[in-house]
Amino acid sequence: MSSTPAVAASSEEVGADGVRQPGGEVHAWLPGQNQTVCGLPLSRTRLRRFPHVPFDYASTDVLTQADPVGFICPRCLAATEGRRRQEKNWVRHSPRP
Ligand SMILES: [Zn+2]
Repeated sequence: MSSTPAVAASSEEVGADGVRQPGGEVHAWLPGQNQTVCGLPLSRTRLRRFPHVPFDYASTDVLTQADPVGFICPRCLAATEGRRRQEKNWVRHSPRP
């Protein structure tokens, strides 16, 4: 799969630039699918989709009170971090010209 995970979140905030930003509980979501990476059905959990926001959170991210995001799903984090690590390894092992 080549598509980049986007964000699905339980609430949203509109930033100063008028663009919707995810808030509350955030999950990774692959555009075109009707569930999150960790398997939550979007329709039943009422998660909002943010196809314009890539899921680029890391487990080392620290959330502050000013941050609209209150919780990052650890299962989605693990899934997307493993994926990023694989991509890095692939680059490292690719043959040099
Ligand atoms: Zn999740």
